[in-house]
Amino acid sequence: MHSFSSTPALGAATVDLAAIAHNLRTIADGAGAGVLAVVKADGYGHGAVPVARTLVDAGANGLGVAHIREALALREAGIPGPITAWLHTRDTDFAVAIAAGLDIAVSSARQLAAVVDAAGRHGETATVTVKVDTGMNRSGVAADEWESFVDDLARARAAGAVALRGVMTHLACGDEPANPANDHQAQALRSAVADLRAVGAVPEIVHAANSPAALTRPDLAFDAVRPGVALYGLNPVPQHSDADLIPAMTLATTVSLVKRVPAGGGISYGHTYIAPADTTVAVIPVGYADGVPRALSGRLRVRINGRDFPGVGRICMDQFVVDLGPDEGGGVAEGDAVEVFGTGADGGPTAREWADLTGTIDYEIVTGIGSRIERRYV
Ligand code: PLP
Repeated sequence: MHSFSSTPALGAATVDLAAIAHNLRTIADGAGAGVLAVVKADGYGHGAVPVARTLVDAGANGLGVAHIREALALREAGIPGPITAWLHTRDTDFAVAIAAGLDIAVSSARQLAAVVDAAGRHGETATVTVKVDTGMNRSGVAADEWESFVDDLARARAAGAVALRGVMTHLACGDEPANPANDHQAQALRSAVADLRAVGAVPEIVHAANSPAALTRPDLAFDAVRPGVALYGLNPVPQHSDADLIPAMTLATTVSLVKRVPAGGGISYGHTYIAPADTTVAVIPVGYADGVPRALSGRLRVRINGRDFPGVGRICMDQFVVDLGPDEGGGVAEGDAVEVFGTGADGGPTAREWADLTGTIDYEIVTGIGSRIERRYV
């Protein structure tokens, strides 16, 4: 039998689930609050279902995703407990989300009306979280419709169409702990909660803090913090936090080919690198389609047999080349294990290093790891 699934992938991201459970505890203890754990974008590239199961078992108070489809996939995989989904389009029919017992975060009176309509059609009560725009000017109920929104919510509750689970907001400058915008947003959230309480709508859980705020501003933790990236062991504020986080993902592959290149040989597309002397190169079978940014061309390093080797020439869709040097990398052979990036504990390359080299954030590196890369769990 020919089998797709029994044929190994060329690259694997090994995800340390114990590290994720450890990070959850570190964050919860530091903030002194509950944790609504964010597992959107396939658990930041780590695999939403195994990560969600780990987080729920480790005591997360709930899970957060952007899309209802993401939440439904978790439910279908048997993940229990509250799952909040906060990003919707105008044509969303909320009936499926209500039937699946999801917590629907609404960002406008129109979204609330659509939830009420779906609940009415099916004779059910929808669970909702109110997402308040306290100054990020992105999602969330806008200040100019807040008063009428509160009236609408009060009516919807009285009619039994909705039950209020939470009130949330998102911080624009959480990674700048001293930025006064954080305090203004927190104050606006408190005021929004007070307005809701005044019409009898008392939330079970109020949350605002993303990872950087959870790590640096425990005073803004409310009932729960809402971290994503820190759960995966990536510290968004290393200069402000010495939190004991363990990166969960290691990206690895094996050497595909080893070959000699004579002095003057150009390597990869465009011959942007010319071997200055006779050398040996190794072909590494992961490329930009797998999440190795093309912008790292000529700038990344990989670790083979405990030594670092530089990438040379352009990174291609499926592969890139490293220079093993004139001594053949001390005997690097086809099939040898390659650490493309790891936890950094051994001084090897990290997602953070890639982000720094390419002018982005490590969020983008781990969420960009492609679907050809197998996820393995330890
Ligand atoms: N809450 C919301 C609404 C988000 O969109 C995100 C992610 O961007 C998070 C929480 C988690 O943020 P972070 O990964 O910085 O902890």
